[in-house]
Amino acid sequence: MSQNEMPPENRRNNNFFNNNPLLLFAIFAIAAIMVFKYVNSEPATPSAITGQSSGGSRQVPYSDFKELVKRGEIKQVTIGKTTIQAVGGGTMGQTTYFTRRIAPDETLLPLLEEKGVAYGGVSEENWFLDLIFSWVLPILIFFGIWMLLTSRMQKSIGGSVLGFGSAKGMINSEKPGVKFADMAGNDEAKEEVKEIIDFLQHPDRYIRLGAKIPKGILLVGPPGTGKTLLAKAVAGEASVPFFSVSASGFIEMFVGVGAARVRDLFEQAKKQAPAIVFIDELDALGKSRAASGFGGNDEREQTLNQLLAEMDGYGSSEPIIVIAATNRPEILDPALLRPGRFDRQVLVDKPDFKGRLEILQVHVKAVKLSPNVDLNLIAKMTAGLAGADLANIVNEATLLAGRKDKDAVENNDMREAVERAIAGLEKKSRRISPKEKRIVAYHESGHALLAQTTKGARKVNKVSIIPRGLAALGYTLNTPEENKYLIQKHELIAEVDVLLGGRAAEEVFIGEISTGAGNDLDRATDIVKSMVQIYGMSEVAGLMVMDRRQVGFLGSPYGYGRSGDYSEKLAEECDLHMKKFLSERYLAVKSRLETYRGAIEEMSAALLAEEVIEGDKVREIIVAFEGANNLPPLCSTKSKDDGDLMSETA
Ligand code: ADP
Ligand code: ZN
Repeated sequence: MSQNEMPPENRRNNNFFNNNPLLLFAIFAIAAIMVFKYVNSEPATPSAITGQSSGGSRQVPYSDFKELVKRGEIKQVTIGKTTIQAVGGGTMGQTTYFTRRIAPDETLLPLLEEKGVAYGGVSEENWFLDLIFSWVLPILIFFGIWMLLTSRMQKSIGGSVLGFGSAKGMINSEKPGVKFADMAGNDEAKEEVKEIIDFLQHPDRYIRLGAKIPKGILLVGPPGTGKTLLAKAVAGEASVPFFSVSASGFIEMFVGVGAARVRDLFEQAKKQAPAIVFIDELDALGKSRAASGFGGNDEREQTLNQLLAEMDGYGSSEPIIVIAATNRPEILDPALLRPGRFDRQVLVDKPDFKGRLEILQVHVKAVKLSPNVDLNLIAKMTAGLAGADLANIVNEATLLAGRKDKDAVENNDMREAVERAIAGLEKKSRRISPKEKRIVAYHESGHALLAQTTKGARKVNKVSIIPRGLAALGYTLNTPEENKYLIQKHELIAEVDVLLGGRAAEEVFIGEISTGAGNDLDRATDIVKSMVQIYGMSEVAGLMVMDRRQVGFLGSPYGYGRSGDYSEKLAEECDLHMKKFLSERYLAVKSRLETYRGAIEEMSAALLAEEVIEGDKVREIIVAFEGANNLPPLCSTKSKDDGDLMSETA
């Protein structure tokens, strides 16, 4: 669910103050104090004595003021709370003196009496202003700050001001209309959760028998595979309320808030039981203590403990089922997975061909579709994509068709949407110089030729020199075979050859190498390294595994660990072997390109003219060239519709 968000840098900028509410608070507090001080430092009653401006006014020290009184130069004194105003009649006319009052000066009044000075207190006309400045205004300012802060907090957690510290504002409660039919594919996952529907509908049947119903179900799978959808569908099928929260929303800056929210969440759910409680991104909360870094630990642990307590707390008689989702089960705290908690794990994986087809069918239901749309083809083209991506593709295709003012979504709209989804938006507007274009054309032709003439390589679907995304100036799409779990050695070598083809073409046809091949070389090196160090495909290391990768669940690498128990000497031999192997492959690739010189020239000319050429055209050029030059036919004429896209060589 949280996949298509802004890049983290942006988010950080936007939420600068959200993440630093204390800083914001400090700024406002300082501002408020300054205003307050300023207001209070005003002379108490500047207007108490009027019409005595002829001699001007002066600020004098208290001692001077007393001295003036003693000398009899003062006629009238007004004593304010903090200030004293004195009117003196000098030879040049009247002067008004101001001085700060020194707190209790018991000698002042007797002195004034003695000198016969008229004195009095501040006239009362300003008590109202006083009240406002010293009481109402500060309160208003602080109230304003509080409102501001809480509204910011509310924005960041989606809660309400008054629900601060409770979960009311951030829990989404609904009765979803989603049914199992809305979720395509994933039949096994659906099967696994089906029994709890019956429990939710008829809890008493089970309670009567003393059955132990699972309390927690952990849905495990990559983002966008429909975990939320599945949980909703369970609630929808059972027609019970669905409470959903995201675990990351629990973690707030104040220790204890998260725990209070968990308590609230379960309180609400219990009131409406039977119910489903859905916790997304459980890993944000349930990171094992070992796997977590520093910072925010207290809060997270308290929240986690509260969750565990709640799950332990209600008996199996209370029909609440907690469904949590994560794509990183390997980092979860083992305490979460103990019996009676999330002891049941259901895998929600990326769909296979059939699953993709079904998901597409679900999503095109709401769309006007032209009969020429071939969903089979689209499903074939989208190997590796998740349900959310497919939903996006259908939507994108609809938008494309709408932009062209069509009556229905056509096949080419779908295809374009797929290509966009896979390779990023076509950036037709991005200008590359003719010189760069020529380099890219040869580079891509090199990849394409190798892909097409090497046994075991994936066949070319499309070659393009239109820059896409940020990194790739051009690309070659190659076809994979559906559901391929094993790769043979010759296929790995073929892939290395295809990757080296780009750079070799630059060398052979341009005579100089550019930086464009960096990524290719990186990938080629990786493949060779795996062959030597992991798959036992070399003489040097033999069957010895040198690189035990701790590959995380679902293939997401979660830290690499080298076992390190091999000698320096072997490491050196392996490095030399890999280097030699790569340069041998490179020589072979270059000689292939030399042989097919004419074909490459023709391909890159076509690319420069049209920017994009289809796999069929590539095959046509190569086959014709082989025929004309009496070459043994290497080019596979397998057409692109036997399978489709996916792997991309930039
Ligand atoms: P997750 O929670 O696993 O990240 P979601 O359940 O939020 O994924 O999926 C996002 C959207 O993708 C769904 O609302 C739905 O439109 C679409 N989707 C994902 N998987 C499927 C599926 N198996 N069938 C139909 N639609 C799906
Ligand atoms: Zn390349």
